[in-house]
Amino acid sequence: MYKTQVFVYDEGDLYRTRLTHSLEVAQIARSVAVALGLNEALTEAIALAHDLGHTPFGHAGQDALNDVMREYGGFEHNLQSLRVVDQLEEKYAGFQGLNLTFETREGILKHCSLTNARQLGDLGRRFIEHRQPSLEAQLANIADEIAYNNHDVDDGLRAGLISVEQLMEIELFREPYTQVTQRYPGLPTRRLIHETVRRMIDGLITDLIESSRANIAAAAPDSIEAVRALPQPLINFSHGIGPKNQALARFLRAQLYHHPQVRRAADKAMHMVRELFSVYFNNPEQIPDSLSVTMRANQIRENAVERARKVADYIAGMTDRYALRAYRRATDQSDALSGHVDSA
Ligand code: MG
Repeated sequence: MYKTQVFVYDEGDLYRTRLTHSLEVAQIARSVAVALGLNEALTEAIALAHDLGHTPFGHAGQDALNDVMREYGGFEHNLQSLRVVDQLEEKYAGFQGLNLTFETREGILKHCSLTNARQLGDLGRRFIEHRQPSLEAQLANIADEIAYNNHDVDDGLRAGLISVEQLMEIELFREPYTQVTQRYPGLPTRRLIHETVRRMIDGLITDLIESSRANIAAAAPDSIEAVRALPQPLINFSHGIGPKNQALARFLRAQLYHHPQVRRAADKAMHMVRELFSVYFNNPEQIPDSLSVTMRANQIRENAVERARKVADYIAGMTDRYALRAYRRATDQSDALSGHVDSA
């Protein structure tokens, strides 16, 4: 809930968070799964879990953690999502983790470096052999993209970091926006934007369903093995809409994710994550006991790689606000991110 998607949580209460993003991914993925006759429960499980491994402060946090973890095996958020459900969650008496199915775990591990794939056995195989994951995993991946491209348009407009004028250059936005303004002249701005974004999502989902249905019919896989062996994913946009979708993604990267205001917050976030890493790595006794039962101070002092991983787990599990407070405590600074950090 208190983890950044693009906007740091205390910039406003109405922006997407990791939680609301994941719910939107699950809704989109489920709609398509129903239409294509895929396994809905599996699709939803992958969608809900796909971002569990994200650090506080979005991609900036992950980049900073990966930097400081470089000599200790690095940090990949997809792999961390898997680590959360396989090892870090302690909910059952009989075993570590959540005992999820291979198919759910495969879907959660969307990307993975070759080095890490080689250590993951069956789960890593597809990255080494360039095989496809299940249709449900393919779908969750694209639903993620549909969700963030569209809600970032909404959030970006709300924040005033991008404008309707700029978005009119983007075909995926221009067409529904023009339709809505013609059909409903004088509609208040928020409703106009919402109706436009709703139609953008509808257009993408409809294309995805039709195109994937045609792909499945053409390839006619008779088993999951046949799906895995195909050179391309079957769940995909049509050739017509793919490039338009990429144009939207490029626009968001250039105008929103690299917006000076977003970059400024990202730079501060990176600094905080690096500082937190250094503080906990040098003072592992500051990590709460509940999180270090398997890591007594004397043990971890001996093994830097293990210690670094514990610190990364601790930091990755923080919300934005927890990390802000931890940073403030560690550095005794009161204007850590944006000058109005609450002290609750
Ligand atoms: Mg996501």
